[in-house]
Amino acid sequence: MNLEKLIKANKKFRRDILPKYEKKLKKSTMYGQKPEILFISCSDSRVNPELMMGIKPGEMFSIRNVGNFVPKYDTSATLNSTASAIEFGINILKLKQIIICGHSYCGACQGLHEGNFEDESLAHLKAWLESAKDIKEKALEETKNADDKHLLYTNTEKISIVAQMQNLKTFPQIQKGLEDESLQIHAWYYHIENGKIEFYCEEEKKFKPLNRKNIK
Ligand SMILES: [Zn+2]
Repeated sequence: MNLEKLIKANKKFRRDILPKYEKKLKKSTMYGQKPEILFISCSDSRVNPELMMGIKPGEMFSIRNVGNFVPKYDTSATLNSTASAIEFGINILKLKQIIICGHSYCGACQGLHEGNFEDESLAHLKAWLESAKDIKEKALEETKNADDKHLLYTNTEKISIVAQMQNLKTFPQIQKGLEDESLQIHAWYYHIENGKIEFYCEEEKKFKPLNRKNIK
């Protein structure tokens, strides 16, 4: 993809799409953004939250990082962009829904098992993935046939989503929101190969297809 393609696409966007939202966006320049959802997903290029759910400008506050990891609440950690965005989204924008969304064929989850990040040029990536070593251990423990790599990686991806949901709950403002029911957390698994989404049912402790029938 060259830059010319992007410039052309932006021109088309300004001509055909933006006018539909112009009024709303102009208003937001005066009164600020008022999104409703905090969506946390992977940096993977095949995961396009706005595209996959028809999200319009101004509707969703988004965090993307390698593996959709959420570090536990820790005020001693500096330069934690994920925690900064969570604090901004929950404490300032007062978002009411958090969706933590992992996905199939996630390179980060595969990297937990297979990655070789000894080279100094990968120091940050190595540290980031090491923060999820408990997830790797749990996946190895719970996967009966860990030689089946696809099964191991899928389990890792799903175990990770549940772990990230627990990590979200270590943020004081999120705990408070869950207690007084002003906030909800949803844990989703997105299949990049067919666009289907599963959600984690906390009652049944398993992922189920996301559809109207399954959502109360
Ligand atoms: Zn990923």
